[in-house]
Amino acid sequence: MKPSPLISLHGGHSGEFCRHAKDRLEEIIQTYIKKGFKAVGITEHMPPVSDLFLYPDEIEQGLTARDLYRQFARYIREVNRLKSVYKSDIRIYTGFETETCSGYIPHVKRLIHEFKPDYIVGSVHHVDDICFDYSREEYDKAVQHCGSHEDLYLRYFDLQYDMIKALKPFVIGHFDLIRIHDEIYKQRLLFPSIQEKILRNLFLIKKLGLVMDYNLRPLSRGEKEPYLTPALLRTIKELGIPVVPGDDSHGKEQVGSHVARTIQTLETLGFDTHWPDPGDIPLN
Ligand SMILES: [Zn+2]
Ligand SMILES: [Zn+2]
Repeated sequence: MKPSPLISLHGGHSGEFCRHAKDRLEEIIQTYIKKGFKAVGITEHMPPVSDLFLYPDEIEQGLTARDLYRQFARYIREVNRLKSVYKSDIRIYTGFETETCSGYIPHVKRLIHEFKPDYIVGSVHHVDDICFDYSREEYDKAVQHCGSHEDLYLRYFDLQYDMIKALKPFVIGHFDLIRIHDEIYKQRLLFPSIQEKILRNLFLIKKLGLVMDYNLRPLSRGEKEPYLTPALLRTIKELGIPVVPGDDSHGKEQVGSHVARTIQTLETLGFDTHWPDPGDIPLN
């Protein structure tokens, strides 16, 4: 049997366009080609809605939302250029990854309208404007803000639901990211109140024909499980929602990490590895 083609639909962050990544985007693309990838979605972080939502490292460097918007415009131009330069070697999709800070819905819609990406990755990194995945400290702040870990999870999955409904992103980024700094996430994800929200979100994803990011970044950090912990993966399989690897690479060293092995796992579990085509879903 022919092996399934190597793919990543979430990743390719580069030092050229993201302060917490490394290397030039062109080197990153060349690395994907060298590693035998047939298709890759480049999904840089979107520029912030306003200066209120700059990350600490951006503030330190004196950047404004306006600067990041201009940088984003350069990013889109560069992906589109590389797409045609390397078109005989690899299929490149132009994408970006969302944030869900206050005011994000019209902002993301404007970006889609202006830059016409092939698709977007719908991710939630903030709960009520607190960036819970930035550090342990910020995570604890978010727990306090919501009242408890359980309430934080519930809030996260509600925000995710609203985001999916409003934006219909072709790829749902790291669905269970909210577990990032929680040691007992496996139990917590099974709480009935949380399960109810998870299932509600998965039914919506299924209904809209969207795709789940099997996010391998935790493996690159030395953790055991990708985002989509095995219990979730089983539910998603039962619902028949497509799952596609995303290396979430932030530099050429991480390009394609763990993807081949992960595709084998998906095959063993009975997932379809005829990857869905982002062109099949119209952007709103
Ligand atoms: Zn990043
Ligand atoms: Zn992300």
